[in-house]
Amino acid sequence: MALMYRQSLVRFDAPLCQTVIDTPEPKGREVLLRVDKCGLCHSDLHLQDGYFVKGGGERLDITRGIKLPFTLGHEIAGVVDGVGPDAPGDLVGARRVVFPWIGCGICKDCVIGDENLCARNRYLGVALDGGFASHVLVPDARYLLDYDPLPAGFAATLMCSGITAYGALKRLVSHPRQRNLLLIGMGGVGLMGLGLAQAMFSQPISVADVSDAAREAALAAGATTAYDPVKSDSARRALKDTGGGFDTIVDFAGSESSMNFAMTALARGGKIVVSGLIGGGFDIPVVNWVYKRMSVEGFMTGTLDEARELIALARTGRIKPPPMRDEPMSDAQTWMDKLREGSITGRIILSND
Ligand SMILES: [Zn+2]
Ligand SMILES: [Zn+2]
Repeated sequence: MALMYRQSLVRFDAPLCQTVIDTPEPKGREVLLRVDKCGLCHSDLHLQDGYFVKGGGERLDITRGIKLPFTLGHEIAGVVDGVGPDAPGDLVGARRVVFPWIGCGICKDCVIGDENLCARNRYLGVALDGGFASHVLVPDARYLLDYDPLPAGFAATLMCSGITAYGALKRLVSHPRQRNLLLIGMGGVGLMGLGLAQAMFSQPISVADVSDAAREAALAAGATTAYDPVKSDSARRALKDTGGGFDTIVDFAGSESSMNFAMTALARGGKIVVSGLIGGGFDIPVVNWVYKRMSVEGFMTGTLDEARELIALARTGRIKPPPMRDEPMSDAQTWMDKLREGSITGRIILSND
């Protein structure tokens, strides 16, 4: 039997370590995929830590239910290596990307297609072993999507940073006021969001990020204005530049300071969608919600239908992919360290030879 190599989490808050097992045999409707590429995402760092920061010195523990060793990685593209007896046999050899936000399949959210809301989810690389490996076992062939003619690495990133950015932006499409749009946090998801927003909206798009390099990357990619949110006069300048603030904002950072900046730069009647997970507390006087007539919506991942919509949109060629580069799968930990340092612009795609 062939061997399966994994860059495994063997302990939380510790470096990944290579583990080797027999390649699993797909059962039922399962599909075994030979991993070609797997994107390295910011949430892989939180999963490695084993917690999210809640603010006020508190942490949200996310280690429960995860059996070690565990394989991270949820932006997976590969080639079908084998299928279970109940999966379509003609899939073998097909190049596919994996929709990783898989629900239990039987709860009230799953049956209407909102698998991303499932409380007993089977998210790949989060609850079930993911793609930082030579192979990955996918619970059902229906989660495999054809991405031809997109590049494999780009198609893989569409499944997390892409679908998160797409879903967050979709929640602003029907907002009645569309004079301008602000995207906060120009990391992997934010830069993808900028490319998507240019295809989905016609108003000018501004960005905000604490990193000079990230702001420059966003301006080079077509953002009209870039703000440094930690500069004390930035929010005031944004209000002046826009003549009263932004109607629509996506906070891809999701920290106390990014939300404070979003709140200050929001126009009356405006809407903020938060999809970042940096964490921290956020506290505003209740009267400000009313005074500003504002709405705030949280958003994460997306549905299988949204994944299909996004691939269709990408196939039109209207989405500019963010900067991305391939690095060896065996160097996963090195690139996790660099991502943690904040020294990466764009996306790292871990690749098997
Ligand atoms: Zn992700
Ligand atoms: Zn469910």
